[in-house]
Amino acid sequence: MVYLDNNATTPVAPEVVEAMLPFFETHWGNPSSLHTFGSSTKLHIDEARDKVAALLGASDSSEIIFTSCGSESNNMALLGAASAIRGTPHVLTSQVEHAAVLGPCAKLEKEGCGVSRISVDGRGHLDLDALKTVLAECDDPMLASFMWANNETGVVFPVSELGALVREADGILHVDAVQAAGKLPINLQKVPVDMLSISGHKLHAPKGIGALYVRRGTRVDPLLLGGHQERARRAGTENVPYIVGLGKACELALEQIDTDARREADLRDRLEAGILSSCKGAVVNGDPECRLPNTTNISFEHLEGEGTLLMLDDVGICTSTGAACESGSIESSHVLKAMAVPTALVQGAIRFSVSRYTTDEDIDYVLERLPPIIERQRILSPRIKN
Ligand code: PLP
Repeated sequence: MVYLDNNATTPVAPEVVEAMLPFFETHWGNPSSLHTFGSSTKLHIDEARDKVAALLGASDSSEIIFTSCGSESNNMALLGAASAIRGTPHVLTSQVEHAAVLGPCAKLEKEGCGVSRISVDGRGHLDLDALKTVLAECDDPMLASFMWANNETGVVFPVSELGALVREADGILHVDAVQAAGKLPINLQKVPVDMLSISGHKLHAPKGIGALYVRRGTRVDPLLLGGHQERARRAGTENVPYIVGLGKACELALEQIDTDARREADLRDRLEAGILSSCKGAVVNGDPECRLPNTTNISFEHLEGEGTLLMLDDVGICTSTGAACESGSIESSHVLKAMAVPTALVQGAIRFSVSRYTTDEDIDYVLERLPPIIERQRILSPRIKN
């Protein structure tokens, strides 16, 4: 199998598995217990918190709250901060966010908040003028949420600039860094971000663990009520093995971020150049100069991505399409649509995302198998009209 769907999920690093195992086998106590067997696991949670804080450049590890996933972190940031704000906030976000941000924004809208969804241009970049207009014209307290990097195209938003603009308007900025963490350097002591979400399974930790950074002084009401875990910010007995796993994954990511990024960009660039030169009608979506190092989103004109994905799957290559199959009909990517990518290209989009475990041989194999698949698709499938 050649796995090029690392923006969907990544393999768990062997070092992470090794770090987690003792917390299933021997140190399985409850951190809230008064006896030493249980309470000694607290130390390992604290160590993991330090490692997550280090990856993000947080000034204090108490600013890290462990959650169950990136979606929970995003929900907690938006719903928790909106609930803690005095008055009704105006929510500011973009049209290309992940569903785990768009969902809570829609809920807040239903509850009476104004929501502005800023558009993007054809390369996937935010319309900063539109953003500045909303910030200048709105008197309500501002709650903004933007992604650091887009999961479909890899396009990176100007987080420092966004932070400065939101701060100038006395607003709160949440950043969904689920795709950026471990791939791009993050230093929360340098960027004016108030909350930031990460997810374990996107950076070689398991599924089912995430974290939310909350800058000291930012008020966020808890979503989960009950026990006093996570300083009463998120109730529920801590998932110690997974927390330890996330800590280890963050430590590895920090150690290897430069070498991983360079290697991944080389592999991605070779894959992309090979596809563009060997497949007719192939077009890259998103600004190639301002992307995650591991991602390329390529449309094959007039083809249906679903068919290409299935043919690639038949030869053991895992990718993802820019469209999702929902209740039997193919729903086009909201990201590519927001970028005004023509229909004949939207439907044919395939996302390739590499990781530190992708090899040169993997890329060679895709470059050997993909061009004939595209040719066959062109003969077999009806043309998609603009
Ligand atoms: N945000 C972004 C940008 C993502 O890509 C994803 C997952 O694909 C999420 C949030 C949700 O993360 P999780 O799967 O951990 O809930």
